Amino acid sequence: MHIDHDASGLHARLESGETLDVDVIISATGVRPKIGFLAGSGIATETGILVDNHMQTNVANVFAAGDCTEAVEFATGKRIINAIQLNAADQARTAALNMAGRVTRSQGAMALNVLDTFGLISASFGQWQGVDGGDHTELSDETTFKYLRLVFEDDVLIGATSLKLTEHVGRICITLKLFASLTKFFPEAYRKSRELPLEVDANATIDSIIAPLGIPPPLVKLVLLNGVFVPPNERAATRFTDGDALAIWPPIAGG
Ligand SMILES: Cc1cc2nc3c(=O)[nH]c(=O)nc-3n(C[C@H](O)[C@H](O)[C@H](O)COP(=O)(O)OP(=O)(O)OC[C@H]3O[C@@H](n4cnc5c(N)ncnc54)[C@H](O)[C@@H]3O)c2cc1C
Repeated sequence: MHIDHDASGLHARLESGETLDVDVIISATGVRPKIGFLAGSGIATETGILVDNHMQTNVANVFAAGDCTEAVEFATGKRIINAIQLNAADQARTAALNMAGRVTRSQGAMALNVLDTFGLISASFGQWQGVDGGDHTELSDETTFKYLRLVFEDDVLIGATSLKLTEHVGRICITLKLFASLTKFFPEAYRKSRELPLEVDANATIDSIIAPLGIPPPLVKLVLLNGVFVPPNERAATRFTDGDALAIWPPIAGG
C-alpha cells in the first residue's frame, strides 16, 4: 500500500490499484511467534507452539508458555495465540508447577484487551464479536463518549466491549466473612450466609476494608486472609489479590 498526503487529504493507494480517500490510516500487525528454530525438533507447531492445558507440548517434559504458544481458549475450546501479559503469566505459572511435578491445569486463554487511545479507554473481553444465533445489547451516551455492548449466547454473557467505562478496571473481587456477633455489621441480606462479595481497588488493605463496616477495633480479634492469620501490625499494609477470602472473628468468651 502507498500513502499519499496532499491538500485534499489522505489517500491510500492499494496494491489492486484502487485509491481510497480516508480520514486516518491505522497500521497493525498480529502476533507471529519466531519458532523456526523448532523445525525438525519433533515439537508440534502451527502459528505457535501447540500446548495442552498443562502447557505441555506434544513432547514429554517439554513445556511452553506465553506469546509463543497456541493454547486452548477457555470459552470456545479453539486454539488461539493470546498475546497478553496476563495470559503469559498464567501459562508460565501453570508450566512451572507442572515442570516441578505438581499437576496443574490452566483454565484456558481468555481474550482481553484494554487500550488507552489519547486518554479514551476502550476494553474488550471474551467473544466480543458475537456468535451465530447470539444476541447483544448496547448502551451509548454520545455526549460523554461512553459505550457498552454486552454479547450473549442464549442467556450467557460471553463477551463485551466498552468505551470510557473504567469504573471496574483494576478492581479486585474478594469475599468478606464475618463470624459470631460480627455478622450484625453486614447488610441484612448477608447476615445468614456470613459472606459478602466485595469489589475493592488495588490499593485496598485489610484495615481500609474493615473501617467502613463500623466494627469497634477491640472486636476485630482474629483476622485470617485465605486461612492465614494476619497480625494487627500488618493489617494496614496487607493488600488483596483476586479471589481472596478475608475472615474476621470477635474475641470469644473474654479471649
Ligand atoms: C508494544 C507492546 C505493548 C503491549 N501492551 C500490553 C498491555 O498493555 N497489556 C498486556 O497484557 N500485554 C501487552 N503486551 C503483550 C505482553 O508484553 C506480552 O504478552 C508478554 O510480554 C509475553 O510474555 P512472554 O514471556 O511470553 O514473551 P516476552 O515478554 O516477549 O519474552 C520472551 C523473551 O525471550 C527472549 N527470546 C526470544 N527468542 C529467544 C531465543 N531464541 N533464545 C533466548 N531468548 C529468546 C526475548 O528476547 C524475550 O526477552 C504488549 C506487547 C507489546 C509488544
